[in-house]
Amino acid sequence: MNVLVINAGSSSLKYQLMNPETGDVSAKGLCERIGIDGRLTHKTADKKVEKEIPMPTHAEAIKAVMDILVDANDGVIKSVEEIDAVGHRVVHGGMEFSDSCIINEEVIAGIKKCIPLGPLHNPANLLGIEACQKAMPTTPQVAVFDTAFHMTMPAKAYRYAIPTEYYENDSIRRYGFHGTSHKYVARRAAALTGKTEFKMVNCHLGNGSSMSAIKDGKSVDTTMGLSPLAGVPMGTRSGDIDACIVQFICNKYGMSVDEALNVLNKKSGVLGLSDGKSSDFRDLEAGAAEGNEACKLALEKFYYEVAKYVGAYAAALNGIDVLTFTAGVGENGITTRKAVCEYLSFMGVKIDDEKNNVRGKETLISTPDSAVQVWVIPTNEELMIAQDTAELVNAAK
Ligand code: ADP
Repeated sequence: MNVLVINAGSSSLKYQLMNPETGDVSAKGLCERIGIDGRLTHKTADKKVEKEIPMPTHAEAIKAVMDILVDANDGVIKSVEEIDAVGHRVVHGGMEFSDSCIINEEVIAGIKKCIPLGPLHNPANLLGIEACQKAMPTTPQVAVFDTAFHMTMPAKAYRYAIPTEYYENDSIRRYGFHGTSHKYVARRAAALTGKTEFKMVNCHLGNGSSMSAIKDGKSVDTTMGLSPLAGVPMGTRSGDIDACIVQFICNKYGMSVDEALNVLNKKSGVLGLSDGKSSDFRDLEAGAAEGNEACKLALEKFYYEVAKYVGAYAAALNGIDVLTFTAGVGENGITTRKAVCEYLSFMGVKIDDEKNNVRGKETLISTPDSAVQVWVIPTNEELMIAQDTAELVNAAK
């Protein structure tokens, strides 16, 4: 089976053509500068092609993807008919969607209804869906939501302690994101440990970071909230802050709320704490090694907050059996994993420094006598999207 996985942003569109059973990717690429001029980067096993192609809208971007996938020289399939299904990443499913689903008019209406919750992402995701529907009218399309995995959270985790009317009238609650990644890692953790009933905390630490408390494969709590701004500090996002900071900044600097939120989304996190040095952990580690105090503080704050959430989730779950690290920093950050795990020695977490000396490979990094198994599990959101897509499309046959 060939599933085309689409991740459409406002001016970009990523794609992967993959086999959901084996995870083999036959081609992947990126359309950039949609609505500006248009650039396509396309990679296959033995080739990388870059082309300037006019892309006034997402429709031309999808057409460019279709054309290159079937191209006699650079393509990997003979005709578009060989694409059995398309899986779309959709960021916000609100309270409408607790699972992936085959796209029909009702689903489109549901995604539109969630636009106020995901104002930046959902309209772009819809453009990708509409363009694919036009280009492949008979091919089934599936929506996979970033929020869906967390819909199993209990009310005490998803409700904010603010007046009920904001929840009832406006759907203001914790949703959480990176759900596809948390779900993928939870499944891999079950397969790798041979456990089905177990309590775990997954640390998805990338440029955007979120953590999830997972019981028997289901999310019971997560650090991101109504939006991806909440939780641990990230590359450029502040993570949890006192909401009064927004009022203070607006009043003092004459900013609008949108401008203040731009500071919290784009200029904060480890970038802000490192005095603007970098949002990239490799740069921060290099800076810290050279004695830069701001870089040191940014890293220390990050390790501290991640460890604090593991402790909080260990309490929420009444103990944990497995701790997993994934995404750019989680998979590659040897120092980050060591620093976080050092905080957790009180609960019997022990890692083996030699085993921890690993990047991007599924590895058990805890010692045999550690009270908690600690794993590095590289995430694969595209594969999870392809698998959900295949499952739904096969079931509907
Ligand atoms: P995104 O949230 O954009 O998907 P990723 O999961 O790809 O981000 O993570 C990107 C981040 O991973 C980079 O900003 C960098 O901080 C971090 N990273 C990548 N390689 C390393 C490394 N070798 N050591 C430490 N951090 C790394």
